[in-house]
Amino acid sequence: IKGGTFDQHFLIDTCYLDRIVAAAELSPQDTVLEIGAGIGNLTERLARRAKKVIAVELDPSLISVLHDRFDAVGNIEIIAGDALKVDFPVFDKVVSNLPYSISSEITFKLLRHKFKLGILMYQYEFAARMVSPPGCKDYSRLTVGTYYFADASILMKVPKGAFQPAPEVDSAVVKLIPRPAPFEVRNEAFFLEFVAAVFSQRRKKLRNSILNTNYLLKIPDVKEVVSQLPEDFMSKRAENLTPEELAGIANMIFDLKSG
Ligand code: SAM
Repeated sequence: IKGGTFDQHFLIDTCYLDRIVAAAELSPQDTVLEIGAGIGNLTERLARRAKKVIAVELDPSLISVLHDRFDAVGNIEIIAGDALKVDFPVFDKVVSNLPYSISSEITFKLLRHKFKLGILMYQYEFAARMVSPPGCKDYSRLTVGTYYFADASILMKVPKGAFQPAPEVDSAVVKLIPRPAPFEVRNEAFFLEFVAAVFSQRRKKLRNSILNTNYLLKIPDVKEVVSQLPEDFMSKRAENLTPEELAGIANMIFDLKSG
């Protein structure tokens, strides 16, 4: 919970609720995970079409609202707790109007699980960073991390007025389809650390961003390693390199560093 709030903006516009449920292409075989079920408007619609909905909610007052509303419904299970801390059950799809203050952490927690499809609401700017092409201002560590785990696309922009109370920011619904990365990564942990390090200095040439962030990367003989990497990449900025190119460089460094 950030700033002492639970990020509570309930989606009340039935048009958007229906579009989100339609995008999930639910079948009676699907088990759906919902993070932050709130007062249950989305939960109820999901449960009509899926085999089961497992709804996680942190706020005790909303947990009792959900129990009052759904205890008599056979296919809704409520998990009381922090979605960042609870163990996720096995699920096929995740459909949620997320608490925006935990967007990044919860997304990467989800992406470490096996599932078929995610239909997730984010702050619009966050969604734009998830799907940006290389070279654009929104292209970031988040873009590359998302692309490593999944295909992501923005399905619709959602205006503030669709929520009660209205948030200060616009929102967007993102479709996530997890898949193996379309490029080879020698060591996942090193690749993700490398991406975080070089994007922390996104406007520097790669040579300098690697040297400046080596306290994070811990490459022994970093100057020697950098001198062996292809000049055409070293003189570019992280923001202008594709995920594939960044993976290629991370792999070369990983191989040089492991001897
Ligand atoms: N899904 C509901 C809707 O569309 O009307 C509510 C969405 S609201 C943006 C986010 C919900 O997440 C709130 O109900 C809030 O209490 C809950 N929440 C906030 N932080 C949470 C956390 N760490 N784990 C689980 N739920 C959380």
